[in-house]
Amino acid sequence: MDTCVFCEIVAGRAPAYRVMEDEHAVAFLDRAPAAAGHTLIVPRNHARDVWELPEDACAEVARLVHRVSALLRVALAPDGLSVTHATGEAAGQDVFHFHAHVVPRWRGDGVRLMWETRRASSQELQEVLERVTAAR
Ligand SMILES: [Zn+2]
Repeated sequence: MDTCVFCEIVAGRAPAYRVMEDEHAVAFLDRAPAAAGHTLIVPRNHARDVWELPEDACAEVARLVHRVSALLRVALAPDGLSVTHATGEAAGQDVFHFHAHVVPRWRGDGVRLMWETRRASSQELQEVLERVTAAR
């Protein structure tokens, strides 16, 4: 099995610019930041993606996302913040240990994290809702 770089960081065997951590999750600076202060939050226990991550572990990551967001606001005074996550290659996931991105944002920073949108029809929304409702 290949070594997981985020597990190596969590264990302290790989270097990282650790921003904050607790007993459940670790936050460190992304080495290829979209903006200054771009931070990754990972659970200490390996999980490939959100589908593999236990619900409680997801909540613990979210708790650290919240704390890091507050820290970055004080430290860097951004105009805003983007929080993103990708599960699967199709979504752009590149390291297969669950991670959330916290990206400080400034007006006019040119950072593009979002997708292009289009207006959905009521029929399309209703069909999706029916599939989701049936799967609950
Ligand atoms: Zn891992």
